[in-house]
Amino acid sequence: MSAPKLSTPRNFTPGDTPAEKLKMVKDGLDVIHDIYRYAETGFASIAEDDFDRFKWYGVYRQRPKNSGYFMLRTKIPGGRVTSAQMKVLAGIADDYGHGFGDITTRQTVQYHWLTIDQFPDIFARLAAVGMTTSGACGDDTRNVCGCPVAGIDKNEIIDATGVLAQVNEHLTDNREFSNLPRKYKISISGCRIHCTQPDINCVGVFGLERTVNGKLEKGYGMKVGGGLSSSPHLAKTLPIFMTPEDVLPAVHYASVVYRDHGFRDKRTRARLKFLMADWGPDKYIAKMEEISNRKWQRHSEFQFPVDPESDHLGVQEQKQPGLYYVGVSFAGGRTRGHQLAAMAELSARYAAPGKDEINFTNKQNLILLNIPEKNVDALKKELTDRGFIYEASNFRRGCVSCTGIEFCNLAIAETKNRMIQLVGELERECSFYQDKIRIHFSGCPSSCGQHQVADIGFRGAVTRVNGVPTEAFDMMIGGKLGHDARFNELIKGKVLARDVHKTVGRLLHYYQDNRLADEAFADFTRRVNKDELKAALEEPAAAPVA
Ligand code: SF4
Repeated sequence: MSAPKLSTPRNFTPGDTPAEKLKMVKDGLDVIHDIYRYAETGFASIAEDDFDRFKWYGVYRQRPKNSGYFMLRTKIPGGRVTSAQMKVLAGIADDYGHGFGDITTRQTVQYHWLTIDQFPDIFARLAAVGMTTSGACGDDTRNVCGCPVAGIDKNEIIDATGVLAQVNEHLTDNREFSNLPRKYKISISGCRIHCTQPDINCVGVFGLERTVNGKLEKGYGMKVGGGLSSSPHLAKTLPIFMTPEDVLPAVHYASVVYRDHGFRDKRTRARLKFLMADWGPDKYIAKMEEISNRKWQRHSEFQFPVDPESDHLGVQEQKQPGLYYVGVSFAGGRTRGHQLAAMAELSARYAAPGKDEINFTNKQNLILLNIPEKNVDALKKELTDRGFIYEASNFRRGCVSCTGIEFCNLAIAETKNRMIQLVGELERECSFYQDKIRIHFSGCPSSCGQHQVADIGFRGAVTRVNGVPTEAFDMMIGGKLGHDARFNELIKGKVLARDVHKTVGRLLHYYQDNRLADEAFADFTRRVNKDELKAALEEPAAAPVA
């Protein structure tokens, strides 16, 4: 599918915040030349402003800021790589990243422990297999997320692979959109489930089918203005129906509206979600139509999935006869280079010839695609022999974690290792619990672990124990997306980190004992009397000594 050429001159007034001035002095994309220069002159020579511009290429200072180490986030549009690309990603983790190559909630890989002198080689290795980090962070278009089983899902409305590629190609390295008011997140999917979370992306394109004059039409809808962090907003649905050819122009003009009308005067209000909250969807589409001098087809009957989640784990049939995909769990996204290399090797060995593809999911797992039926049993055995989990427990299936205090400068709490530890504890101590559950951890209010949309969300906090600052978590329950989308609510503040597993255990017991027949956890959290539940979460009083 070839993309139409679209161009709209910049027409915005920069704000006077330090971030706006920084972008006007030098475009974020121009810092690439400086990265190569600093690779020669060393960490101490890096200008403070350029540290901020480094983000346009996915480069952040690792905690602590003066350590000389960096984090690097890659771009993987739609999360899909070949085994050759995965091999390169694994090599970077092993050769430069102390073995770390964590999976993010935007379907990419994040490295740690990198030094400035290593970036030329890392960028060259990525470029050699058609990959980039351009726009991975900064006030630019972040990795465009997509359905990890697009094109192979038996139930999808429409395969969005082509339009996702068009949008990614159009917005990557495009100086019309390299100075946006703030970070800009897009997801594009044609599936029925909406696991690509259009509700919490700045722009979420989703599959849509309708019958017009007795004829079935398959296309897309668009949500605009979602986002999490300390002021979470659910996206609003534009009243339009898009054909596949309409999607790129619609995303282009939605981006132009954000670029030119987003609130640049206050960094804390610069995300698209604040513009949408002020304008509403009718004004937003009217502005898109005014600047594009075109109309999109109107549509008003939207039905969103009741359960917009899938981990895509385990062995599942593809729409292509005789082919299967196998989802492998990596709790909290923690992966090591040798594990990524193993995935590359297994894909190359077991996938159908020429179809060796692996997908990163936004639940921080990996999927091996296009496995012929005759190879499935051998692949399952090899996965098990190598310690990989493809048939995961309910706790493992739904767990998500941000980076946390291990590497992140904003973190208040340790998250990833705690998440992995919690999953193990729940598997041992709460085996009675037999339903799907999503437990998410964020180390601070920025919500990279998407705690607000989890069944049980934890947000890093600090409390005092005998006067000593001690790691804790605010515990929230009841978040969900899709039909009846809502953010979760605080049920217990400042749970000591060491008590998290006991508190979750009490919650699961209370649910098990008090749920209505067949009542899902999400429905239970909405119905239950919160005061009674809060009381049930308290540590039982110690028995009096006789
Ligand atoms: Fe860092 Fe906070 Fe994001 Fe976690 S949620 S990665 S602690 S900024």
